[in-house]
Amino acid sequence: MEFFKNKTKIKLEFVNDLNLKKQAKELGINIWQTPSFLFIIFGVAATIIMAATYFISKNYEDPSVLVISECLVVAVIFIVEMLVARFIEQLTKLNKMKSEFVSIASHQLRTPLSAIKWETELMLKKFKKGLNKKQIKNLENIYAINQRMIHLVSDLLDVARIDQNRLILRKQKINLVEIAKEVVGEIIPKAKLRNIEINIKTKKRLPLVLGDSEKIRLAVENLLDNAVKYTNNGGKININVFESGSFLIFEITDNGVGIPQGQTNRVFEKFFRSDNASKYQTDGTGLGLYIAKNIVEQLDGKIWFQSIENVGSVFSFSLPIER
Ligand code: ADP
Repeated sequence: MEFFKNKTKIKLEFVNDLNLKKQAKELGINIWQTPSFLFIIFGVAATIIMAATYFISKNYEDPSVLVISECLVVAVIFIVEMLVARFIEQLTKLNKMKSEFVSIASHQLRTPLSAIKWETELMLKKFKKGLNKKQIKNLENIYAINQRMIHLVSDLLDVARIDQNRLILRKQKINLVEIAKEVVGEIIPKAKLRNIEINIKTKKRLPLVLGDSEKIRLAVENLLDNAVKYTNNGGKININVFESGSFLIFEITDNGVGIPQGQTNRVFEKFFRSDNASKYQTDGTGLGLYIAKNIVEQLDGKIWFQSIENVGSVFSFSLPIER
């Protein structure tokens, strides 16, 4: 039994070694930089060089020419492989250090930002009477800018956790419709300012899903925030939550600026912002969808979209129903 277990484990590890995309994602590097890819290339190169050496040295009668030249070729390949392996190791260490730095810096920033939030809140609530209109407006601005900073720092922390495989999600029974309604309720004032209409359509009774309520809420917030951000004044946003097999689907449709066709394959990449979006809306980091994708996929769901530039976008994600 133990023997079969070990055999399966070795087989899985081998298959994992060949999964270049996964390896690249885990190390935070490109596919061509992964150790497996480089070893495959070196393997192929070594075979070709050794075969060539064999055919060339066939022209010489003395067999020691073949042996010496093969030894030399093997030694050179070995040294180059060692250098590349070291380079990758350093690259991986640097990548890890970068994630750790982002994580520590974000943690340290959280405390003073929270203090600014409490202080401004206190001033606006308790000492409002002693302030004139301009002072109140200034304080409100400080509060709003600080909230944006808190949001950014929290996004950076999440990204660092994702990159270090430390994003821990609970799997509880969650009412997705309730979360969607709450998030809509929070964003309506912002949408109203730009005359954007938001409608939500669901069946009365839908099953619960399995997931982490706080993080699912974050994924919904990111999609809804994008829909509002990238929709022109007077636009329309429709949200639909429905059942499909063993999943609940959350779908959000807008008639906004859309995504240019040549850039659709990069939408879930970290820090990606499409050309039209960055011109239309300077406020954005390109982290929201990367975080949403990682949350949904870690909860065994999927996330996808369809978009046409200047027509609109439909973003959807699925989460497994709790049985
Ligand atoms: P951010 O919105 O902060 O730039 P996101 O990761 O949330 O970052 O989104 C990445 C990019 O995907 C956006 O910059 C934008 O180009 C595009 N995008 C996302 N949602 C929409 C949408 N509803 N309509 C048009 N473009 C979108």
